Amino acid sequence: MEDSIFYKFAKGEMKPGNIRYEDDDLLAFDDIHPAAPVHILIVPKKPIQSVADMVEEDAAIVGKMVYRAKLLAEELGIDHPGYRVSFNVREGGGQLVPYLHLHLMGGPKPWRDI
Ligand code: AMP
Repeated sequence: MEDSIFYKFAKGEMKPGNIRYEDDDLLAFDDIHPAAPVHILIVPKKPIQSVADMVEEDAAIVGKMVYRAKLLAEELGIDHPGYRVSFNVREGGGQLVPYLHLHLMGGPKPWRDI
């Protein structure tokens, strides 16, 4: 996880291409290979490797990630007809980057699979 580029983004050591939102707990930025017209990744500042690696106290931060996805979807006008928020978990779930990230996808179809 420490080698992951998202870890470096979260620590402020590197900057993602297009930041959509940042606060003390979260960072949201555009996916570099968007699978949908809107494809944003939301990561916690606290290093967590995946949903499978969460501890109970991480539930609050993950809740903030989901709520931020809802707010960004409204701001970007993709809340109707709807959008997708998803986590890939470990290799078997398609997680390529070993640092927790929530995908927010929306806009006109078709979308690529992630
Ligand atoms: P996952 O398969 O759930 O681990 O998703 C990783 C996502 O990170 C993919 O959609 C990639 O396109 C995206 N990605 C990888 N590197 C970067 C980067 N440097 N900046 C933004 N998105 C990235």
